[in-house]
Amino acid sequence: MTSLLIKNATVVTVDHERRVLRDGAVAVEGDRIVAVGPTDEVAARYPTVERTIDARGKVVFPGLVNTHNHLFQTMLKGLGDDRVLSDWFANMTAPSAVSLDEETVYHAAMVGCLDGLRSGTTTMLDYFYPHPRAGLDDQIVAALRDSGIRGIFGRGMMDTGKEFGVPEGIMQDTATILADCRRVFETYDGSAGGRIKVWFAPAALWSGTRELYEGISRLAKEYATGVTIHVSETPFDRDSAFKLHGQTEMDFLESVGLLGPKLLMVHCVYLTPREIRMARHFDVKISHNPVSNLYLSSGVAPMTEAMASGVTVGLATDGAASNNTNDMIEVLKFTALMHKGHYLDPTIITAEKVLEMATIDGARAVGLEDQIGSLEPGKKADLFIFNPRRSPKSMPYHHPVSTLVYSAGQDGVETVIVDGRVIIDDRRFTELDEDGILGRAQELADRLVERAGTGALRERPWRSLSY
Ligand SMILES: [Zn+2]
Repeated sequence: MTSLLIKNATVVTVDHERRVLRDGAVAVEGDRIVAVGPTDEVAARYPTVERTIDARGKVVFPGLVNTHNHLFQTMLKGLGDDRVLSDWFANMTAPSAVSLDEETVYHAAMVGCLDGLRSGTTTMLDYFYPHPRAGLDDQIVAALRDSGIRGIFGRGMMDTGKEFGVPEGIMQDTATILADCRRVFETYDGSAGGRIKVWFAPAALWSGTRELYEGISRLAKEYATGVTIHVSETPFDRDSAFKLHGQTEMDFLESVGLLGPKLLMVHCVYLTPREIRMARHFDVKISHNPVSNLYLSSGVAPMTEAMASGVTVGLATDGAASNNTNDMIEVLKFTALMHKGHYLDPTIITAEKVLEMATIDGARAVGLEDQIGSLEPGKKADLFIFNPRRSPKSMPYHHPVSTLVYSAGQDGVETVIVDGRVIIDDRRFTELDEDGILGRAQELADRLVERAGTGALRERPWRSLSY
């Protein structure tokens, strides 16, 4: 069994007491953390480890949890800038989504995972758009597996919504969706040594029939797995859901039996105080996507109110078509600044709370708080080592959490470990040909633009201010 000792580090545990060890060590055996404590004590208990990393001057953090992504959108970076959401979806994202093929999806997901890993992300929830072409789901799962990241694959679905702009090319009939959900779950849940999980991901309340939602509710209970849905990203979501179902989004979710601790609602920008109370009552979790909400001008989600009411809120990038990266370090700073600026109150959120949202709260949001999200004996060895000396951006260094949230970039992420495996070692991927993957991804992105007919977005004229 591989064993590893990281010593002489500052260890930000995010454990129950939120301990920060100034001369700390973390011992790993196989896929688990076996000890966290002062260097002398832990080093004395594990004198014969296979590998020791001297992390003097460096910080060990729990791996970050990205609770919402659409990895295929990694191919679309920059094509959707400066557009309103309906235009962004109808004229860029949707034509691209229907033009995907296996290799393009695989490379999109690989690049997204590499970007995530380089920003300290060790768990990635992907929410793959529904797609009638068989085999594309499998490519995302393959990339999650091959990249070495811990992956939750959300099988997307839409079976209605033409009147709200859903292209027929990405709709499927209800029975086909439910049957394929069974196939994907039974094939992949628990695969890659338990690293991959499968969830169900209905796209929105206005693009799914009651029959579909009732079917998913039954299936999720049968498999005891999670469900994630976009909720109240925009007023359009609320109005359209009401038109289709004659109920508000959350009343509808309650009526089909989906409100509960295994439901992860994404965005929630327009939740009312009553809906926040409902989320608390049912222990529903929320995925907060500040970069995407700002990029698409969706608004500022009332997440400080939700957290103050006791709702668990994790963080996420969203897809790279509305972010334009998969970088979770960037999300940390945006989270803090978005709420401070919006409420004109610098005390409304702290760097420490932001880190909790990206680690232990994110772990709770995806139902893995017993496994990941903090550095504690018995948990999975999912962590990263940050070296502030790698970049003037992080120097001089005073406070580990402040530095990560406000003064960090990917260049400081030196070592990344997932499930006890060293995925990035001294800033190099240990097993992946990063340059080869990036090169092939560019070729495939060029071809996707041709197939989707989105070349004009790439050749767009210079657009300056037009007030
Ligand atoms: Zn999304």
